[in-house]
Amino acid sequence: MPISTQRLMVSTLHLTQAQLLKFELLDQGLVISRAALDALRELNGERSLSPHDYASTSGIILNLEDDVWVNAPIERYNPNFVSATPFVLGFDEGFFVEGAGLSSRATFWPQPEYHGSAMDFGPLNNYVVTHGDRARLSPVRSCSMTCTFCNIPYDDPLSVYALKPVAALVSAARVALGDPLQPARHMLISGGTPKPKDIPWMQELYATVLGAFPTTKVDLMMVPLPGLFDLPKLADLGLHELSINLELYNRDRARDYMRQKYNQGLDFYLDFIESATVALGQGRARSMLMVGLEPLEDTLAGVRAIAQRGGTPVLSPFRPDMATPLRDLKPPTADFMREAYERASDIVAEFGVILGPDCPPCSHNTLNFAAGADGRVAYAHDRPVMIGAGA
Ligand code: SF4
Repeated sequence: MPISTQRLMVSTLHLTQAQLLKFELLDQGLVISRAALDALRELNGERSLSPHDYASTSGIILNLEDDVWVNAPIERYNPNFVSATPFVLGFDEGFFVEGAGLSSRATFWPQPEYHGSAMDFGPLNNYVVTHGDRARLSPVRSCSMTCTFCNIPYDDPLSVYALKPVAALVSAARVALGDPLQPARHMLISGGTPKPKDIPWMQELYATVLGAFPTTKVDLMMVPLPGLFDLPKLADLGLHELSINLELYNRDRARDYMRQKYNQGLDFYLDFIESATVALGQGRARSMLMVGLEPLEDTLAGVRAIAQRGGTPVLSPFRPDMATPLRDLKPPTADFMREAYERASDIVAEFGVILGPDCPPCSHNTLNFAAGADGRVAYAHDRPVMIGAGA
């Protein structure tokens, strides 16, 4: 029997139906039944089902049994691969997901009230978008780099690179944190990547946001441009976590899909992850690897390399975004993701680190279940508001 087959047999013994469903939904997405659509119209009004602002956040956020979070692609935003899925979101007093012999009760994450609204500086979602319990601030329009799996350089038809007004970013973040329906509990400042000439501006932006929200955990996710991160200063300012994403470990695939990041060199990234762990503390430097665009053995080698440097590996399944040149590719299969999750879990255990993220709602689009060493899912913040629970 092939080793991979043995693994799948083992995995089905200890993963619950809801956990297995997460991999299946990330692979094939789901259709929303008529009954569920009617229930969503009643419970969610006319608001959009998803912010669909980024490749990996294009679906609907569900909380399944066993506290499993998943961002499930739907055909409306991913017609490129969600068409013949056997998985269905149904409603019968409460939401449920079923298909291929699996089923789970579910609740639905409604978007914050501010999504889709505007202030005098323009649409708020040009500055901030909430997913689960975290608001993502985007200070740069477009990106100075082009990674072909990422929608950011392709969303804007003119690809106009620009810096956004700092005051508007801070105001937008305040709105997200104070949303009456779905207040964000923590924040992430992320891409696009600034041009080298704009590094001082970005440093100032980081300091301004960290200073403006001293009681809110703020993370950064950014390419480690030379000179951008003053780690001791960021630690002093109260930075919570820093995410330095390798994305791809296989060098040929990295060169094909993310030329500028490839040119920076793998060792540069790994050295930086190690430095960030030293400066910020164990567990506060993480790095994302994209699952499905390179052989599994390469991704697992990346998990090992990150863990060896004290970083927290995060597995993010590739989701082909309609705006990108990779729109005709498929996500990795559920079996592939499950094997990646299980083998990566074994590797991180060797090094005494975890598969991130450790925030349960933020695991909606990652291959983990945000469970601690005791297997329990723990929340550092108030849980998001969910709708459609059964009686
Ligand atoms: S550097 Fe980051 S934001 Fe820019 S294209 Fe690559 S993944 Fe997207």
